[in-house]
Amino acid sequence: MTSKSIILAGGAGYIGSHIAALMLARDIDIIIIDNFANSSPVVFDRLERITGRRPKLIEADLASAQGAATVLDELRPHDIWGAVHLAGLKAVGESVEQPSRYYDVNINTTLNLINILDQLNATKLVFSSSASVYGAENKSPVSEEGVLSAANPYGSTKILNERLLADHARARSKWQVINLRYFNPVGAHPSGLIGEDPTGIPNNLFPYIAQVAVGRRPHVSVFGGDYDTPDGTGIRDYIHVDDLALGHLAAVDYLTNQNRGDVMPINLGSGHGHSVLEVISAFSRAAGKHIPIELVDRRPGDVAMSFANPSRAEKLLGWAATRSLDEMCRDHWRWQSGNRDGYRAAESNSE
Ligand code: UDP
Repeated sequence: MTSKSIILAGGAGYIGSHIAALMLARDIDIIIIDNFANSSPVVFDRLERITGRRPKLIEADLASAQGAATVLDELRPHDIWGAVHLAGLKAVGESVEQPSRYYDVNINTTLNLINILDQLNATKLVFSSSASVYGAENKSPVSEEGVLSAANPYGSTKILNERLLADHARARSKWQVINLRYFNPVGAHPSGLIGEDPTGIPNNLFPYIAQVAVGRRPHVSVFGGDYDTPDGTGIRDYIHVDDLALGHLAAVDYLTNQNRGDVMPINLGSGHGHSVLEVISAFSRAAGKHIPIELVDRRPGDVAMSFANPSRAEKLLGWAATRSLDEMCRDHWRWQSGNRDGYRAAESNSE
């Protein structure tokens, strides 16, 4: 691993905070850049409780020229490895309602980060991409060769960012980029101190189930029971957020040991899927609670089945997901039951 400082752009968010916990525990020097648009400063207290170390923070909006200038000023004294880039907007439904905001924030953030790294002579970047870059026509398991075609503006910004980073890397011979395409990240840190804290009504299955289990919502709507799958409900490749975080560390290690310019997409998934009903029953077991469901129509744009071919990650990064669905549910539940309203309670009485 590197002795230089690693930028975690968007490092206070759900996935970034788990990467931060791992890196701090391994004595890696990190600098989190976040504007708390969709995350909480309480994460810093929690990271300190988990690891005994508090990461450096630059509070700034990387999408704005002014924010980027502040970040560059603050980073100048440091010896920077490069960045793990997780900064951006991520709600699929909201991206359909506000496409120009999504393009503006998600593309400008990357452009500004590229410029900052160029100014600092840093050449390594791990990008938080998504399986939503794969078009619905791909058959699972989906490899990195799958056809790219996004079903919504959020996915389009991921495809555009991957291309932008690839073009930049090709124009600068030393640049090295790994685009990590996540399948369905779920679960939480085993301490129960950090986890997913969505604003508003959750779009995704796990946080929705968790909020039903904790009594914040009456039932889970199961979107479609007539898919061509064994129990008729949709199948996805769920991956524990700590496995995902380990995938980022493996990507950082790979780039650290590599000096040749390179650009590569890599899937992070488990390679197998679980149906909506399987997930609900596993969560119900973990929480020791009945979870009421209501079967409703399919959600527009959803496919029956999506899971990864994760062999490239295994071959190149020596990484594979190891945590089971039961572990994902147990850890997600520990976080949600200990933090009914996410970070909100801790925000009002400082820890
Ligand atoms: N899903 C559901 N009810 C919900 C949210 C999701 O039945 O409230 C289903 C959805 O149709 C899909 C699976 O759960 O089959 C995972 O959905 P999620 O939005 O978490 O991930 P994505 O579809 O983006 O992979």
